[in-house]
Amino acid sequence: MPNRLDLPAGFRWGASTAAYQIEGAVDEDGRGPSVWDVFAARPGAVRDGDTGRVACDHYHRYPEDIALMRGLGLDGYRFSIAWPRVQPTGAGPVNPAGLDFYDRLVDALLAAGITPLPTLFHWDLPQALETPSNSGSAAGGGWLARDTAHRFAEYAAIVADRLGDRIPAWITLNEPFVHMVFGYALGIHAPGRTLMLDALPAAHHQLLGHGLAAAALRERGGQVLIANNLTPVRPASQAAADVAAAAAYDALHNRLFTDPLLLGSYPDLSAYGVDADLGGCVRPGDLELIAGPGLDGLGVNYYNPTRIAAPTDPGLPFAEAEIEGVPRTAFGWPVVPDGLRELLVGLRDRYGAALPPITITENGCSVTDEVAPDGTVHDQPRIDYLAGHLDALAAAVAEGVDVRGYFTWSLLDNYEWAEGFSQRFGLVHVDFETQRRTPKASYTWYRDLIAAHRARHEG
Ligand code: BGC
Ligand code: BGC
Repeated sequence: MPNRLDLPAGFRWGASTAAYQIEGAVDEDGRGPSVWDVFAARPGAVRDGDTGRVACDHYHRYPEDIALMRGLGLDGYRFSIAWPRVQPTGAGPVNPAGLDFYDRLVDALLAAGITPLPTLFHWDLPQALETPSNSGSAAGGGWLARDTAHRFAEYAAIVADRLGDRIPAWITLNEPFVHMVFGYALGIHAPGRTLMLDALPAAHHQLLGHGLAAAALRERGGQVLIANNLTPVRPASQAAADVAAAAAYDALHNRLFTDPLLLGSYPDLSAYGVDADLGGCVRPGDLELIAGPGLDGLGVNYYNPTRIAAPTDPGLPFAEAEIEGVPRTAFGWPVVPDGLRELLVGLRDRYGAALPPITITENGCSVTDEVAPDGTVHDQPRIDYLAGHLDALAAAVAEGVDVRGYFTWSLLDNYEWAEGFSQRFGLVHVDFETQRRTPKASYTWYRDLIAAHRARHEG
């Protein structure tokens, strides 16, 4: 059995974060409000009323955080750029002070020998684009409005004009599936819409935004990736109704966001009563724009597999079923490392030569972490999770899947969206009262793994 040390020479090690989850400084240096500032302020929207107002105060403490990355020996750091810092109203005037922050961050990373991998959109849309009066769309604003895709491409070009000389590769969007479902279908995340299947235009407009932004980034010499949340879908049994339900779920969660990019078409969503034009929002030429000349890499965010059974609620063609007999994270998510191998081999089998090289852009788990009296955090469940998933990744590579790097979620404990500060995913513990950072046992473990992997391939 191959293990994590067998990952190929040149394999890139990293860690990931996102702007609203760590930066804080929401009112500083001209940043405009985002949909998350507004959503988090709604009573009852987020556990304990937590907001990202301060978060990890990374906006001010980034030099300390880069020192922690350097201590790990990271090759790369994935972070996101807050659109409302760059364009406070999502359109029109640029806020130079906002761009200056990312300029400083990028230079400090490069000085530490770490390659920056920025994501342009990790869910913090400028609020001005959400408010229907500004969106020019009767259907609603945000990603329900087609115009947002054009605004996104304009913003991408602004950022690339400033930082592109130091950024080899960009990630356009983070998890358009989770953003559509949690943000627009279920209302668990900002902007808090509860549209169910009427949320589908938010999928198409995000993908269109990706395509338009990708063209702008390529023109400026950057490589282009997207970070998709993908899950292997397992039918609850081999009964025909369960197998059909699993296929319907796979189409919505995975293929809706990967087929248009890699095959230039949408999957069959007829099980949802939806036609090929996703309720009329797909216009001629859109799919060509979305696929473009192809991705330079596919970012894969993997947390767990999904088990699906025949529907119990007539509104949807599937029902989620429990995965039994496996450990759970503090969040309650099932821990199934081999699901990562299954996912990657499945992608290769499905897309063949159309599949670009893969980078794991998120993988990690929440643990109930506390700083122990000895001053460290004994997060053995996280070490077990990471070790298991990296071995599964090595197994996928041994089966011929081209995987170039692994970015764990997350560098720091941070603002876990609707769960506020209650779920800790970091290699580094953050005390949100004092902002004190404490590297956990998993930090030391990851550092040693990176060093051992390098020593093996350099030796
Ligand atoms: C799901 C995970 C998913 C996550 C995205 C959870 O509710 O169980 O599969 O990765 O949401 O944040
Ligand atoms: C998101 C992260 C999030 C993580 C854990 C992903 O869905 O991209 O922002 O913190 O999963 O839920």
